[in-house]
Amino acid sequence: MSDSIASYLLTWYHQNKRILPWRDLGNPYAVWVSEIMLQQTRVDTVIAYFERWMDKFPTIESLADAGEQDVLNLWEGLGYYSRARNLHHAAKILVDEYDAQIPEDVKDLIKLPGIGPYTAAAISSMAFGHDAAAVDGNIRRVYARIFDIDIILGTKEAEKIFWDLAEKHLPKGEACDYNQALMDLGATICTPRNPCCEDCPINEFCKSYTLGNQEMRPVRKKKKQVSHHIHAAAVIVDAERGKVLLAQRPKKGLLGGMWEFLNGRVEGNPAEGLAGVIREGYQVQIHVGNPLCIIDHAYTHFKITEHAYVCTMLKSSQKENWRWVDLKELEDYPMGKIDREIAKRLQQSDV
Ligand code: SF4
Repeated sequence: MSDSIASYLLTWYHQNKRILPWRDLGNPYAVWVSEIMLQQTRVDTVIAYFERWMDKFPTIESLADAGEQDVLNLWEGLGYYSRARNLHHAAKILVDEYDAQIPEDVKDLIKLPGIGPYTAAAISSMAFGHDAAAVDGNIRRVYARIFDIDIILGTKEAEKIFWDLAEKHLPKGEACDYNQALMDLGATICTPRNPCCEDCPINEFCKSYTLGNQEMRPVRKKKKQVSHHIHAAAVIVDAERGKVLLAQRPKKGLLGGMWEFLNGRVEGNPAEGLAGVIREGYQVQIHVGNPLCIIDHAYTHFKITEHAYVCTMLKSSQKENWRWVDLKELEDYPMGKIDREIAKRLQQSDV
């Protein structure tokens, strides 16, 4: 990118930059937390989570000292929960090995859990002003359009092109504002659909604008068809004690460490299949009672429709990762969206 493009972009940024609660604080911890939250999640959603997070864990030490349940509770609803566990784990490492300071260099940052090349560059440039080139989804889109890159996104070849472009065109000493200018341009003007090219500060340099192929850049792989699974959940209640049974998911994998109602994938009629999947999956015998609710949810690579039934326990032994939870205390247990919705419906019901 020529200097003139960089200078046009920087001028535009200084007049139009988004006001975001983690910007201009001079607080590397805030930049780190915001960048982790922004992986996979939109800015509008992140703002409220970021503010709650900084109220509860204002420093690296406070995060390192927190319990995992509190961390996951605060993250609930943001999804991709390994991000929260990695932040927590990295905070402990920073306290133990870095005197509770965030390292400045990309090569040190990238050793921390949850920090990849983009996040390391973003923190190094935005929190410390180092000349680190960054490439995220917004920046890929902007470069792909300015230079009319027709290589499929996600391939090694495309990644090399984007990182080379980012390195080559980074204006020295301006990485902090330049990286954020590209991110803001991608988020507000050079949007995935209907980019506002007439208002773009660098449209005179943009090949895709000239060619009229903006919507075809970047080039994406064809999406695989998303599979759809039917699940059934056993909301096992102990009506006398006003309690319901929750199980904690394994620490690793989807929704790791979160709590859920016992459930499993079923074929055919969910009410008829439920007792069998719970017996096989958890070695528990239940009586399946009335339907409670049906919840649809889309993950990145598949969709689930979950049918929840109020059940009673016939026979089982207590397991380490189970809790009988008072209905009023369900909020204390971090859950994914499906289970939180079931929990709310249960609390509203007359069970
Ligand atoms: S001219 Fe349009 S396509 Fe090109 S960078 Fe600007 S907004 Fe994006």
